[in-house]
Amino acid sequence: MSFTICEYDLCCGCALCADVCPHGAIKITRDVYGFARPDIDPSLCAKCGACRAKCPVNGENESRAEKVYAAYAKDKEIRRKSSSGGIFRLLANKTLEDGGAVAAVGYDGDFHALYKVTDRPEGLDEMMGSKYTEAVSDGIYGKVKTLLDEGGKVLFVGTPCRVAALKNFVGDREGLLAVDFLCHGVPSPVLLEKFLSENFGKDIERVSFRDKTRGWQEFSMRVDSAGKKPYINSQYKDPYLRVFLRNAALRESCYDCRFKAEHYASDITLGDFWGISSCMPSMNDDGGTSAVVIRSAKGSSAFDEIKDSLVLKETSEKALGASNVALYKSSQKPAARGDMLSALERGDSFSAIAEKFGRPVPTKAIVSERLKRSVKKILGKIKK
Ligand SMILES: Cc1cc2nc3c(=O)[nH]c(=O)nc-3n(C[C@H](O)[C@H](O)[C@H](O)COP(=O)(O)OP(=O)(O)OC[C@H]3O[C@@H](n4cnc5c(N)ncnc54)[C@H](O)[C@@H]3O)c2cc1C
Repeated sequence: MSFTICEYDLCCGCALCADVCPHGAIKITRDVYGFARPDIDPSLCAKCGACRAKCPVNGENESRAEKVYAAYAKDKEIRRKSSSGGIFRLLANKTLEDGGAVAAVGYDGDFHALYKVTDRPEGLDEMMGSKYTEAVSDGIYGKVKTLLDEGGKVLFVGTPCRVAALKNFVGDREGLLAVDFLCHGVPSPVLLEKFLSENFGKDIERVSFRDKTRGWQEFSMRVDSAGKKPYINSQYKDPYLRVFLRNAALRESCYDCRFKAEHYASDITLGDFWGISSCMPSMNDDGGTSAVVIRSAKGSSAFDEIKDSLVLKETSEKALGASNVALYKSSQKPAARGDMLSALERGDSFSAIAEKFGRPVPTKAIVSERLKRSVKKILGKIKK
C-alpha cells in the first residue's frame, strides 16, 4: 500500500511535509484546481513517518480567547489600504522597528499569492490586504526557522492551518509571534488565474480583493493595469467575488477546517468585525474595524505595544461570534460544489463559470442593503 501523510480530503496544502522530510522524498505539486498537494517519490521514501508526525491535520491544538477587542488603526492610510482595521500593518511595522522580519502573503510576478519574508517597510505594502486564493507556502517554514535559529524576531501571518504547521515545525519559540485570521476558506488558484487572464491580460500592476472605494462593508475588487482606468467592482457585482462568496470553489479541507473554535494555534487571531454596527455602533464608520482575539501572553504584550496607534474597545468572544461564524465554523459546502469542480476539471472559461456561479446580486437587494447600512451609520454617529 502506498504511504499516506494524512487523509486526502483533510490535507490543507500547507506543504510542511516537504520541509520536514529528511530524505527529500516529498515534492509539492498543484492539482487540476491549482491547490497544493504533496507527491511522494516511493524510491526515496523511507516510511520514517516524520511527515505524518508533523502534519498539522494529524495533531490537535488547543487555545482560548483570553481577550477580544474591536480595533482600528488611527493612521487613515494604513486603514484604507488594509482589509479591515489595519492591525497587520501595525504589528508588522513594530516587528521591523525591533529589527525583526515579517513572513506573510504577497504576490509573485504573475499575481499568484505567495508566502514570503521581508525585513523592509516597502516589502510590507504588497502583504497588506486579503488575497482570496490559496497562497503558495512551499519552503516558508524552513525560512522562518533559519531566522529564529539565528536569534531573530519573526512575525508570521497566515491562515490558521499554516500557523498550525509552522508551530508544529518550530515549536513555541520566543522570537515568534504567530498571527492567523478568521478564515472563510481559500478558493481555487486556477479560478483567479482564469479571471485575471481573461479580463486583464498581462499588464496588471495591482490586485486588491478588498478595495474600500464603496466602503469596508461593501468592499470591491480592484485591478490596476498599466495605462488603463482602474477596474473597481463591488462585491455585489464583481464576478470573482460573487463566485468566491458562494463558497463552491474552496479547498476541500476548508469545509472541515481543523483549526477553528478552540483549535487555533496562534498568539493572535484577526478578523473583520462584521457585526460591529449592531453590537458597538460607535466603533463603525465604515472605514474598517478589526476583531482582535488575544490567545497568549506573547500575543497580549505584542498587542499592548501597538495600542497607542489604535482606536479600540474591549468586547467578548460571544459578541464577535454572534456575527462572525467563521470564528467557530467552517464554510458550508453548497450543493453546487460538484458542478464547480466539474467546470474546473473541464477547463471551462471564467466567463462560463461566472455565468453559472457568480450572478450579480439583484439591484433591489443591493439598494436595501445600502439603506440598512446608512441607517446604522447614522445611528453610530449619534451614539458616539
Ligand atoms: C482567504 C481569506 C479568508 C478570510 N475569511 C474571513 C472571514 O470569513 N471572516 C473574517 O472576519 N475575516 C476573514 N479574513 C481575514 C480578514 O479579511 C483580514 O485579513 C483580517 O481582518 C486582517 O485585516 P487587517 O486589516 O488587520 O490586515 P490586512 O492588511 O488586511 O492583512 C491581511 C494579512 O493576511 C495575509 N493574507 C492575505 N491573503 C492571504 C492568503 N490568501 N493566505 C494567507 N494569508 C493571507 C496577509 O499577508 C496579511 O498579513 C480572511 C482572510 C483571507 C486571506
